Amino acid sequence: MAHEDPSPHPLPDVRTGNGYDVHRLVDGTHVTLCGVEIPHDQRLDGHSDADVGLHALTDALLATCAAGDIGDHFPPSDPQWHGAASHIFLSHAAAIVRDAGGVILNVDVTLIAEEPKIGPHRLAMRSALAGILGISVERCSVKATTHETIGSIGRREGIAAIATASVVYGHRS
Ligand code: MG
Repeated sequence: MAHEDPSPHPLPDVRTGNGYDVHRLVDGTHVTLCGVEIPHDQRLDGHSDADVGLHALTDALLATCAAGDIGDHFPPSDPQWHGAASHIFLSHAAAIVRDAGGVILNVDVTLIAEEPKIGPHRLAMRSALAGILGISVERCSVKATTHETIGSIGRREGIAAIATASVVYGHRS
């Protein structure tokens, strides 16, 4: 049985979405995380540039309007996304949110990696997110943690990211 939509209601229509991604690490020269290229002795393996931060955030944004996930919009089987810069995916998700009447309030990405160190690149990453999404840097958070050397991520076999996005809807322009 369908439930009645509670709108119109007096509360702002603020919605939250989350996203998660992980990619394998293989021998290489750099990783791209949250849009920033960091020299490293490994690279992230994937059909695009494998930027786990942007992929997780793309899913989080899509989730705020139940628009599926990154794989629905950019199938890994489609050769046109081979080696693609992942800001394309995030920009697309932001456009879907805007078209649905959403205004992005804030985004938050946590990178889970033993290496490389994220701290020196954090502001550049936040600036990259702000530029892609068209919101201020203070609304873009990037955090990092290690996996305490345990498990696959702790063994430097991969890097994971989780992301959260908050969007207020009802601002159709
Ligand atoms: Mg991915």
